[in-house]
Amino acid sequence: MSFPRIDVDLSKIRHNTRTIVARLRGRGIHVTTVTKAVCGHPAIARAMLDGGAEGLAETRLSNVKRLRQAGVTCPVTLIRTPMLSQVDDVVQLCEASYNTEITVVAALAAAAVRQNKVHGIILMVEMGDLREGIMPHDLGDMAQRVIDMPGVALKGIGANFACLSGIAPTSAKMRALSALADNVEGQCGSFLQTVSGGNSANLPWAFGVRTTGRINDLRLGEAILLGVDPITGEQIGGLFRDAFTLVAEVIETGAKSVRPHVSRADGTLAKIWLVPDTSGSTRVVLGIGNQDTDAAGLSMPSGHTLIGATSDHLVIGTNDASLCVGSEMRFQMNYSALMRAMAAPDIQTNLRNDRPVPNTRDADGPSKHLALV
Ligand SMILES: *Cc1c(COP(=O)(O)O)cnc(C)c1O
Repeated sequence: MSFPRIDVDLSKIRHNTRTIVARLRGRGIHVTTVTKAVCGHPAIARAMLDGGAEGLAETRLSNVKRLRQAGVTCPVTLIRTPMLSQVDDVVQLCEASYNTEITVVAALAAAAVRQNKVHGIILMVEMGDLREGIMPHDLGDMAQRVIDMPGVALKGIGANFACLSGIAPTSAKMRALSALADNVEGQCGSFLQTVSGGNSANLPWAFGVRTTGRINDLRLGEAILLGVDPITGEQIGGLFRDAFTLVAEVIETGAKSVRPHVSRADGTLAKIWLVPDTSGSTRVVLGIGNQDTDAAGLSMPSGHTLIGATSDHLVIGTNDASLCVGSEMRFQMNYSALMRAMAAPDIQTNLRNDRPVPNTRDADGPSKHLALV
């Protein structure tokens, strides 16, 4: 098997999706799964759909093309405001898109008319993340203009939290979004099919609150892929955290003097002095680096410490005397490490449990006593 690689356990992706879909169904919310962190990998997308996702969401057209070329026909929504230069492809490849600019909506509408299609529009509202979004007081007028355009249909509204600002959505924000949905309907007389509350950072709200109001959709990536709450980094009860494992190969082992024989005066080498004292342990060098992943986002197996990484090397201190040249080391990844590793041209993905096994719904879950929190 080749190195470096990512082992992907698709049964764990299916399980994580199924678990969240079931928990949110009871709250009147359906799940749109986001495939951007895995570059629209078709088998991973299918595992999410097998797990009960309503549809897929992507930020990049290149990833949507990859999905379509692999034969994925489910609805795909573009969740990054489309580029004006890409509207024809957006209409061709995606059923709907999130929008914040009327110029872009008009271009999408013209493209849809040319293609004899109707493209769905979800208006993204700014509610505090200060990334993309229409200001709430402009929403009604914008919605009316979309409704009046041939070629597009207003499907709904959405909000996004915790991406740029790291601030989680509150119940008050979610109530405000519900109220906006009611106001737009009142002003424009058109029913909003989708009210999308946000991303994985919304899950504590969705699981905890008494009523979810008008919110009937969440766009989920990280929680399903990595089984964690993106704000706290804590495991979500009942989900697997190890659907993805990065596997790298040892290319050098052995003790090395901790202090390199260089002059302290040489500023270019100054950071070498930050190397921690690893006396009592040895160092191993792995054939993977920051060009392949985010080294700081790898969780070190116990008994190992990250010493540092450069573009192509990862240096680790270890007590494990059995590691030798050619050994493999396995790591769990955080979101940033996963996203980069999935996009790295030199990392293979190795799929496991590709086919759902019929009638073994509980067989691939974590032990039953795990509390859902
Ligand atoms: C990335 C993204 C999501 C998914 O975020 P996760 O934290 O991975 O769940 C949802 N909506 C938008 C607009 C995004 O860009």
